[in-house]
Amino acid sequence: MTVQPDSTSEALRPCPRTVAEPPRPPWQPHRAWQVSSSRTVSYEVVLSSGLLDPANPTLAAAGVPDGAGPGRRLVVVDATVQALYGARLCAYLTRRAVEHEFCVVDAHESVKSMETVFGILAAMDAFGISRRREPVIAVGGGVLTDLVGLAASLYRRATPYLRVPTTLIGMVDAGIGAKTGVNFRQHKNRLGSYHPSSVTLIDQEFLGTLGPRHLRNGLAEILKIALVKDATLFERLEEHGPRLVEERMRPAGSADGAKVAEEVVERAIHGMLEELQPNLWEHELRRLVDFGHSFSPAIEMAALPALLHGEAVCVDMAFSAVLAHRRGLLDRGDLVRLLRVMDRLELPTWHPVCTPDLMARGLADTVRHRDGRQLLPLPDGIGHARFVNDVSRAELDAALGLLLDLGGRSDALALTSGNRGA
Ligand code: NAD
Repeated sequence: MTVQPDSTSEALRPCPRTVAEPPRPPWQPHRAWQVSSSRTVSYEVVLSSGLLDPANPTLAAAGVPDGAGPGRRLVVVDATVQALYGARLCAYLTRRAVEHEFCVVDAHESVKSMETVFGILAAMDAFGISRRREPVIAVGGGVLTDLVGLAASLYRRATPYLRVPTTLIGMVDAGIGAKTGVNFRQHKNRLGSYHPSSVTLIDQEFLGTLGPRHLRNGLAEILKIALVKDATLFERLEEHGPRLVEERMRPAGSADGAKVAEEVVERAIHGMLEELQPNLWEHELRRLVDFGHSFSPAIEMAALPALLHGEAVCVDMAFSAVLAHRRGLLDRGDLVRLLRVMDRLELPTWHPVCTPDLMARGLADTVRHRDGRQLLPLPDGIGHARFVNDVSRAELDAALGLLLDLGGRSDALALTSGNRGA
Protein backbone atom coordinates (compact mmCIF):
# COMPACT_ATOMS: atom_id res chain seq x y z
CA MET A 1 0.00 0.00 0.00
CA THR A 2 1.27 3.49 -0.77
CA VAL A 3 0.29 6.36 1.42
CA GLN A 4 -0.58 9.38 -0.60
CA PRO A 5 1.12 12.60 0.28
CA ASP A 6 -1.04 15.02 2.16
CA SER A 7 -1.97 17.45 -0.55
CA THR A 8 -2.99 20.09 1.99
CA SER A 9 0.60 20.63 3.19
CA GLU A 10 3.31 21.74 0.82
CA ALA A 11 6.03 22.08 3.46
CA LEU A 12 5.70 18.79 5.34
CA ARG A 13 5.47 15.79 3.13
CA PRO A 14 5.66 12.39 4.66
CA CYS A 15 7.90 10.02 2.74
CA PRO A 16 5.99 7.52 0.66
CA ARG A 17 5.91 4.15 2.44
CA THR A 18 6.16 1.04 0.40
CA VAL A 19 5.69 -1.47 3.25
CA ALA A 20 2.43 -1.80 5.09
CA GLU A 21 2.80 -0.66 8.70
CA PRO A 22 0.36 -1.22 11.50
CA PRO A 23 -1.38 1.96 12.57
CA ARG A 24 0.50 3.68 15.36
CA PRO A 25 -1.23 3.99 18.70
CA PRO A 26 -2.14 7.54 19.61
CA TRP A 27 0.71 9.43 21.31
CA GLN A 28 0.89 8.69 25.01
CA PRO A 29 2.36 11.39 27.21
CA HIS A 30 5.51 10.21 29.09
CA ARG A 31 6.60 11.48 32.44
CA ALA A 32 9.47 9.16 33.26
CA TRP A 33 12.18 7.48 31.23
CA GLN A 34 14.69 4.86 32.28
CA VAL A 35 18.01 4.96 30.51
CA SER A 36 20.41 2.06 31.11
CA SER A 37 23.76 1.51 29.59
CA SER A 38 26.89 -0.28 30.60
CA ARG A 39 30.47 0.46 29.83
CA THR A 40 33.18 -2.15 29.80
CA VAL A 41 36.31 -1.00 31.52
CA SER A 42 39.54 -2.69 30.80
CA TYR A 43 43.01 -1.63 31.76
CA GLU A 44 46.41 -3.18 32.14
CA VAL A 45 48.85 -3.33 35.01
CA VAL A 46 52.25 -4.51 33.82
CA LEU A 47 55.49 -5.21 35.68
CA SER A 48 57.98 -3.77 33.26
CA SER A 49 61.65 -3.28 34.01
CA GLY A 50 64.02 -0.98 32.13
CA LEU A 51 61.29 1.53 31.29
CA LEU A 52 63.74 4.36 30.73
CA ASP A 53 66.09 2.33 28.59
CA PRO A 54 65.98 4.06 25.17
CA ALA A 55 66.07 0.65 23.48
CA ASN A 56 62.83 -0.35 25.23
CA PRO A 57 59.73 0.77 23.27
CA THR A 58 57.24 -0.09 26.07
CA LEU A 59 56.63 3.36 27.53
CA ALA A 60 56.53 5.18 24.20
CA ALA A 61 54.11 2.65 22.73
CA ALA A 62 51.83 2.19 25.73
CA GLY A 63 48.20 3.20 25.43
CA VAL A 64 48.23 4.10 21.73
CA PRO A 65 46.67 2.15 18.88
CA ASP A 66 48.96 -0.31 17.08
CA GLY A 67 50.78 1.31 14.23
CA ALA A 68 50.40 4.86 15.55
CA GLY A 69 53.57 6.91 15.20
CA PRO A 70 55.56 8.20 18.15
CA GLY A 71 53.31 11.27 18.42
CA ARG A 72 53.26 13.78 21.25
CA ARG A 73 52.99 13.34 25.00
CA LEU A 74 52.37 15.62 27.91
CA VAL A 75 54.35 14.16 30.80
CA VAL A 76 53.08 15.26 34.20
CA VAL A 77 55.81 14.47 36.66
CA ASP A 78 56.42 14.82 40.38
CA ALA A 79 59.09 17.49 41.08
CA THR A 80 61.37 15.13 43.01
CA VAL A 81 61.06 12.48 40.33
CA GLN A 82 61.83 15.10 37.70
CA ALA A 83 64.98 16.10 39.56
CA LEU A 84 66.08 12.45 39.79
CA TYR A 85 64.89 11.01 36.49
CA GLY A 86 63.90 14.00 34.30
CA ALA A 87 67.07 13.95 32.19
CA ARG A 88 66.73 10.19 31.52
CA LEU A 89 63.04 10.54 30.77
CA CYS A 90 63.70 13.39 28.35
CA ALA A 91 66.53 11.46 26.68
CA TYR A 92 64.27 8.42 26.40
CA LEU A 93 61.42 10.29 24.75
CA THR A 94 63.77 12.17 22.44
CA ARG A 95 65.45 8.94 21.38
CA ARG A 96 62.02 7.38 20.69
CA ALA A 97 61.11 10.48 18.63
CA VAL A 98 58.24 11.40 20.94
CA GLU A 99 57.59 15.13 20.91
CA HIS A 100 56.99 15.98 24.55
CA GLU A 101 56.48 18.61 27.17
CA PHE A 102 56.88 18.28 30.91
CA CYS A 103 54.44 19.63 33.45
CA VAL A 104 56.30 19.45 36.76
CA VAL A 105 54.14 19.34 39.87
CA ASP A 106 55.49 19.72 43.38
CA ALA A 107 53.08 17.04 44.52
CA HIS A 108 52.59 16.36 48.19
CA GLU A 109 49.62 15.70 50.40
CA SER A 110 49.12 19.34 51.44
CA VAL A 111 48.65 20.43 47.81
CA LYS A 112 46.50 17.48 46.83
CA SER A 113 43.67 19.83 45.96
CA MET A 114 41.47 21.07 43.13
CA GLU A 115 43.80 24.08 42.68
CA THR A 116 46.61 21.73 41.69
CA VAL A 117 44.24 19.80 39.43
CA PHE A 118 43.32 23.07 37.70
CA GLY A 119 47.04 23.73 37.10
CA ILE A 120 47.39 20.32 35.44
CA LEU A 121 44.25 20.94 33.39
CA ALA A 122 45.70 24.24 32.19
CA ALA A 123 48.83 22.41 31.03
CA MET A 124 46.71 19.79 29.25
CA ASP A 125 44.67 22.46 27.56
CA ALA A 126 47.72 24.45 26.48
CA PHE A 127 49.36 21.30 25.11
CA GLY A 128 46.26 20.48 23.04
CA ILE A 129 45.90 16.77 23.53
CA SER A 130 44.61 14.41 20.89
CA ARG A 131 42.47 12.04 22.93
CA ARG A 132 42.94 8.98 20.75
CA ARG A 133 46.68 8.78 20.38
CA GLU A 134 48.35 11.03 22.93
CA PRO A 135 47.74 9.70 26.43
CA VAL A 136 49.00 11.94 29.19
CA ILE A 137 51.81 10.22 31.09
CA ALA A 138 51.73 10.54 34.90
CA VAL A 139 55.06 9.79 36.57
CA GLY A 140 55.25 9.96 40.34
CA GLY A 141 53.84 8.76 43.63
CA GLY A 142 50.23 8.29 44.68
CA VAL A 143 49.62 12.01 45.11
CA LEU A 144 50.76 12.79 41.55
CA THR A 145 48.84 9.90 39.94
CA ASP A 146 45.66 10.74 41.91
CA LEU A 147 45.92 14.39 40.75
CA VAL A 148 46.57 13.52 37.10
CA GLY A 149 43.85 10.85 37.13
CA LEU A 150 41.29 13.36 38.33
CA ALA A 151 42.42 15.98 35.80
CA ALA A 152 42.27 13.38 33.01
CA SER A 153 38.77 12.30 34.04
CA LEU A 154 37.58 15.90 33.90
CA TYR A 155 39.30 17.06 30.73
CA ARG A 156 36.80 16.69 27.92
CA ARG A 157 34.88 14.32 30.21
CA ALA A 158 37.62 11.67 30.13
CA THR A 159 41.01 11.71 28.52
CA PRO A 160 43.23 8.61 28.49
CA TYR A 161 46.40 8.58 30.56
CA LEU A 162 49.18 6.22 31.60
CA ARG A 163 50.55 5.78 35.10
CA VAL A 164 54.18 5.14 35.92
CA PRO A 165 54.16 4.88 39.72
CA THR A 166 57.49 5.67 41.29
CA THR A 167 56.70 4.93 44.95
CA LEU A 168 55.87 1.58 46.54
CA ILE A 169 52.37 2.79 47.47
CA GLY A 170 51.86 3.82 43.88
CA MET A 171 53.00 0.40 42.62
CA VAL A 172 50.81 -1.74 44.86
CA ASP A 173 47.85 0.50 45.52
CA ALA A 174 47.39 4.09 44.30
CA GLY A 175 48.55 3.43 40.75
CA ILE A 176 46.63 0.22 40.03
CA GLY A 177 43.00 0.90 40.97
CA ALA A 178 40.30 2.97 39.33
CA LYS A 179 40.01 5.76 41.88
CA THR A 180 41.38 9.28 41.60
CA GLY A 181 40.96 11.97 44.20
CA VAL A 182 41.94 15.12 46.02
CA ASN A 183 41.43 16.34 49.57
CA PHE A 184 38.64 18.80 50.23
CA ARG A 185 37.87 20.80 53.37
CA GLN A 186 39.95 18.68 55.73
CA HIS A 187 38.45 15.52 54.22
CA LYS A 188 40.78 13.00 52.72
CA ASN A 189 40.15 12.26 49.01
CA ARG A 190 36.64 13.72 49.31
CA LEU A 191 36.51 14.77 45.66
CA GLY A 192 37.33 12.23 43.02
CA SER A 193 36.30 10.01 40.19
CA TYR A 194 36.66 6.49 38.86
CA HIS A 195 39.02 6.77 35.94
CA PRO A 196 41.77 4.14 35.69
CA SER A 197 44.72 4.74 33.42
CA SER A 198 44.67 2.62 30.28
CA VAL A 199 48.03 1.16 31.29
CA THR A 200 50.08 1.19 34.49
CA LEU A 201 53.74 0.35 34.00
CA ILE A 202 55.62 -0.71 37.11
CA ASP A 203 59.38 -0.58 37.21
CA GLN A 204 60.79 -1.39 40.66
CA GLU A 205 64.06 0.35 39.71
CA PHE A 206 62.40 3.63 40.75
CA LEU A 207 62.44 2.36 44.33
CA GLY A 208 66.22 2.71 44.34
CA THR A 209 65.94 6.42 45.16
CA LEU A 210 62.90 6.26 47.42
CA GLY A 211 63.62 7.13 51.04
CA PRO A 212 63.25 4.30 53.60
CA ARG A 213 60.30 5.99 55.27
CA HIS A 214 58.37 5.98 52.00
CA LEU A 215 59.27 2.34 51.40
CA ARG A 216 57.89 1.45 54.83
CA ASN A 217 54.84 3.50 53.98
CA GLY A 218 54.24 1.25 50.98
CA LEU A 219 54.97 -1.86 53.01
CA ALA A 220 52.07 -0.83 55.28
CA GLU A 221 49.64 -1.20 52.35
CA ILE A 222 51.26 -4.55 51.49
CA LEU A 223 50.81 -5.62 55.11
CA LYS A 224 47.13 -4.73 54.76
CA ILE A 225 46.68 -7.24 51.92
CA ALA A 226 48.72 -9.82 53.84
CA LEU A 227 46.60 -9.52 56.96
CA VAL A 228 43.20 -9.81 55.30
CA LYS A 229 43.89 -12.39 52.61
CA ASP A 230 47.42 -13.69 52.20
CA ALA A 231 49.10 -15.44 55.11
CA THR A 232 52.11 -16.35 52.93
CA LEU A 233 52.67 -12.69 52.13
CA PHE A 234 52.54 -11.99 55.86
CA GLU A 235 55.22 -14.64 56.44
CA ARG A 236 57.46 -13.01 53.82
CA LEU A 237 57.12 -9.66 55.58
CA GLU A 238 57.68 -11.30 58.94
CA GLU A 239 60.85 -12.99 57.75
CA HIS A 240 62.29 -10.37 55.39
CA GLY A 241 60.69 -7.00 56.32
CA PRO A 242 63.80 -5.06 57.40
CA ARG A 243 65.88 -6.52 54.56
CA LEU A 244 63.28 -5.42 52.01
CA VAL A 245 63.73 -1.87 53.27
CA GLU A 246 67.53 -2.08 53.36
CA GLU A 247 67.73 -3.37 49.81
CA ARG A 248 64.98 -1.06 48.59
CA MET A 249 63.07 -3.91 46.94
CA ARG A 250 64.95 -3.52 43.69
CA PRO A 251 66.01 -6.13 41.20
CA ALA A 252 69.54 -4.88 41.84
CA GLY A 253 69.47 -5.98 45.49
CA SER A 254 71.00 -9.31 46.59
CA ALA A 255 69.80 -12.19 44.39
CA ASP A 256 67.80 -13.70 47.21
CA GLY A 257 66.45 -10.32 48.36
CA ALA A 258 65.43 -9.35 44.84
CA LYS A 259 63.50 -12.60 44.50
CA VAL A 260 61.61 -11.98 47.73
CA ALA A 261 60.96 -8.34 46.75
CA GLU A 262 59.57 -9.44 43.42
CA GLU A 263 57.32 -12.02 45.04
CA VAL A 264 56.10 -9.52 47.64
CA VAL A 265 55.21 -6.91 45.00
CA GLU A 266 53.54 -9.49 42.75
CA ARG A 267 51.46 -10.99 45.57
CA ALA A 268 50.45 -7.53 46.79
CA ILE A 269 49.35 -6.38 43.32
CA HIS A 270 47.56 -9.66 42.64
CA GLY A 271 45.73 -9.60 45.96
CA MET A 272 44.73 -5.99 45.50
CA LEU A 273 43.47 -6.46 41.94
CA GLU A 274 41.60 -9.61 42.96
CA GLU A 275 39.63 -7.48 45.40
CA LEU A 276 39.23 -4.45 43.13
CA GLN A 277 38.20 -6.06 39.86
CA PRO A 278 34.81 -7.53 40.80
CA ASN A 279 33.87 -4.33 42.61
CA LEU A 280 35.58 -1.57 40.65
CA TRP A 281 32.81 0.96 41.22
CA GLU A 282 32.49 0.00 44.88
CA HIS A 283 28.79 -0.79 44.74
CA GLU A 284 29.52 -3.52 47.27
CA LEU A 285 30.48 -1.74 50.48
CA ARG A 286 31.92 -4.80 52.22
CA ARG A 287 35.47 -4.34 50.97
CA LEU A 288 38.40 -6.22 52.46
CA VAL A 289 40.75 -3.55 51.15
CA ASP A 290 39.05 -1.08 53.47
CA PHE A 291 40.98 -2.72 56.29
CA GLY A 292 43.14 0.02 57.75
CA HIS A 293 40.97 2.66 56.09
CA SER A 294 38.15 3.05 58.61
CA PHE A 295 39.82 5.34 61.17
CA SER A 296 42.89 6.34 59.16
CA PRO A 297 41.31 9.12 57.04
CA ALA A 298 40.53 11.05 60.23
CA ILE A 299 43.92 10.20 61.75
CA GLU A 300 45.85 11.19 58.63
CA MET A 301 44.08 14.51 58.18
CA ALA A 302 44.35 15.41 61.89
CA ALA A 303 48.06 14.55 61.95
CA LEU A 304 48.88 16.15 58.58
CA PRO A 305 51.72 16.43 57.63
CA ALA A 306 53.21 14.32 60.42
CA LEU A 307 51.87 10.96 59.25
CA LEU A 308 52.15 9.56 55.75
CA HIS A 309 49.17 7.73 54.28
CA GLY A 310 50.52 4.23 54.91
CA GLU A 311 51.58 5.21 58.43
CA ALA A 312 48.05 6.34 59.25
CA VAL A 313 46.78 3.09 57.72
CA CYS A 314 49.17 1.18 59.99
CA VAL A 315 47.86 2.95 63.10
CA ASP A 316 44.34 2.00 61.99
CA MET A 317 45.41 -1.62 61.38
CA ALA A 318 47.02 -1.86 64.84
CA PHE A 319 43.90 -0.39 66.43
CA SER A 320 41.62 -2.70 64.43
CA ALA A 321 43.79 -5.68 65.40
CA VAL A 322 43.36 -4.80 69.07
CA LEU A 323 39.60 -4.52 68.54
CA ALA A 324 39.72 -7.97 66.90
CA HIS A 325 41.80 -9.35 69.78
CA ARG A 326 39.35 -8.03 72.37
CA ARG A 327 36.54 -9.76 70.46
CA GLY A 328 38.40 -13.07 70.43
CA LEU A 329 39.01 -12.99 66.66
CA LEU A 330 42.76 -12.67 66.91
CA ASP A 331 44.57 -14.61 69.59
CA ARG A 332 47.31 -13.15 71.66
CA GLY A 333 50.05 -14.92 69.69
CA ASP A 334 48.83 -13.52 66.37
CA LEU A 335 48.40 -10.02 67.81
CA VAL A 336 52.00 -10.16 69.02
CA ARG A 337 53.21 -11.37 65.60
CA LEU A 338 51.33 -8.63 63.82
CA LEU A 339 52.51 -5.82 66.09
CA ARG A 340 56.04 -7.16 65.93
CA VAL A 341 56.05 -7.00 62.12
CA MET A 342 54.88 -3.39 62.32
CA ASP A 343 57.57 -2.71 64.87
CA ARG A 344 60.33 -4.28 62.77
CA LEU A 345 59.16 -2.27 59.77
CA GLU A 346 59.36 0.82 62.02
CA LEU A 347 55.77 1.68 61.30
CA PRO A 348 53.79 3.56 63.92
CA THR A 349 50.94 1.88 65.78
CA TRP A 350 49.76 4.97 67.58
CA HIS A 351 49.84 8.75 67.27
CA PRO A 352 48.94 11.49 69.77
CA VAL A 353 46.00 12.64 67.62
CA CYS A 354 44.31 9.30 68.35
CA THR A 355 42.01 10.50 71.11
CA PRO A 356 38.83 8.58 71.93
CA ASP A 357 36.81 11.39 70.32
CA LEU A 358 38.82 11.36 67.11
CA MET A 359 38.48 7.58 66.75
CA ALA A 360 34.72 7.82 67.32
CA ARG A 361 34.38 10.72 64.88
CA GLY A 362 36.49 8.87 62.33
CA LEU A 363 34.23 5.82 62.59
CA ALA A 364 31.08 7.98 62.35
CA ASP A 365 32.39 9.52 59.14
CA THR A 366 33.19 6.07 57.78
CA VAL A 367 29.67 4.89 58.65
CA ARG A 368 28.27 7.77 56.58
CA HIS A 369 30.51 6.70 53.74
CA ARG A 370 29.36 3.06 54.07
CA ASP A 371 25.67 3.79 53.79
CA GLY A 372 24.93 3.87 57.50
CA ARG A 373 26.76 0.66 58.44
CA GLN A 374 30.17 0.17 60.03
CA LEU A 375 31.19 -2.75 57.80
CA LEU A 376 34.45 -2.77 59.67
CA PRO A 377 36.91 -5.37 58.37
CA LEU A 378 38.70 -6.97 61.32
CA PRO A 379 41.40 -9.65 61.10
CA ASP A 380 40.05 -13.10 61.87
CA GLY A 381 43.34 -14.83 62.42
CA ILE A 382 46.18 -13.83 60.09
CA GLY A 383 45.34 -13.89 56.39
CA HIS A 384 41.56 -13.71 56.90
CA ALA A 385 39.08 -11.04 57.89
CA ARG A 386 35.43 -10.62 58.75
CA PHE A 387 33.13 -7.64 58.79
CA VAL A 388 31.56 -6.37 61.97
CA ASN A 389 28.80 -3.84 62.40
CA ASP A 390 28.30 -3.42 66.08
CA VAL A 391 31.40 -1.83 67.57
CA SER A 392 30.34 0.37 70.46
CA ARG A 393 31.92 3.56 71.74
CA ALA A 394 32.88 1.75 74.95
CA GLU A 395 34.68 -0.88 72.86
CA LEU A 396 36.55 1.80 70.91
CA ASP A 397 37.66 3.48 74.14
CA ALA A 398 38.80 0.20 75.68
CA ALA A 399 40.70 -0.81 72.54
CA LEU A 400 42.42 2.56 72.40
CA GLY A 401 43.39 2.19 76.05
CA LEU A 402 44.93 -1.21 75.35
CA LEU A 403 46.72 0.05 72.24
CA LEU A 404 48.15 2.97 74.21
CA ASP A 405 49.25 0.58 76.87
CA LEU A 406 51.01 -1.58 74.32
CA GLY A 407 52.61 1.47 72.76
CA GLY A 408 53.70 2.92 76.06
CA ARG A 409 55.20 -0.18 77.60
CA SER A 410 57.67 -2.03 75.47
CA ASP A 411 57.38 -5.16 77.59
CA ALA A 412 53.62 -5.33 77.06
CA LEU A 413 52.73 -8.53 75.25
CA ALA A 414 56.48 -9.17 75.12
CA LEU A 415 56.93 -6.63 72.35
CA THR A 416 60.24 -5.11 71.56
CA SER A 417 60.27 -1.31 71.66
CA GLY A 418 60.25 0.56 68.40
CA ASN A 419 58.60 3.37 66.58
CA ARG A 420 55.56 3.70 68.79
CA GLY A 421 54.11 7.16 68.67
CA ALA A 422 55.04 9.95 66.32
P1 NAD B 1 53.65 10.80 47.37
O1 NAD B 1 53.07 10.80 46.03
O2 NAD B 1 53.53 12.05 48.18
O3 NAD B 1 55.19 10.39 47.24
C1 NAD B 1 55.97 10.34 48.40
C2 NAD B 1 57.27 11.15 48.23
O4 NAD B 1 58.16 10.41 47.43
C3 NAD B 1 57.09 12.49 47.56
O5 NAD B 1 57.88 13.42 48.24
C4 NAD B 1 57.64 12.27 46.16
O6 NAD B 1 58.19 13.46 45.65
C5 NAD B 1 58.71 11.25 46.41
N1 NAD B 1 59.04 10.34 45.33
C6 NAD B 1 58.21 9.76 44.45
N2 NAD B 1 58.87 8.86 43.72
C7 NAD B 1 60.16 8.87 44.13
C8 NAD B 1 61.33 8.15 43.75
N3 NAD B 1 61.30 7.17 42.85
N4 NAD B 1 62.48 8.45 44.38
C9 NAD B 1 62.52 9.39 45.35
N5 NAD B 1 61.45 10.10 45.77
C10 NAD B 1 60.28 9.82 45.15
O7 NAD B 1 53.01 9.65 48.29
P2 NAD B 1 52.67 8.12 48.04
O8 NAD B 1 52.98 7.46 49.31
O9 NAD B 1 53.25 7.59 46.80
O10 NAD B 1 51.09 8.12 47.85
C11 NAD B 1 50.22 8.52 48.86
C12 NAD B 1 48.97 9.06 48.22
O11 NAD B 1 48.35 8.01 47.48
C13 NAD B 1 47.92 9.55 49.20
O12 NAD B 1 47.46 10.82 48.81
C14 NAD B 1 46.80 8.54 49.09
O13 NAD B 1 45.52 9.11 49.31
C15 NAD B 1 46.95 8.08 47.68
N6 NAD B 1 46.38 6.76 47.47
C16 NAD B 1 45.48 6.63 46.48
C17 NAD B 1 44.92 5.40 46.23
C18 NAD B 1 43.93 5.24 45.11
O14 NAD B 1 43.27 4.20 45.04
N7 NAD B 1 43.80 6.18 44.23
C19 NAD B 1 45.28 4.29 47.00
C20 NAD B 1 46.24 4.46 48.00
C21 NAD B 1 46.79 5.70 48.22
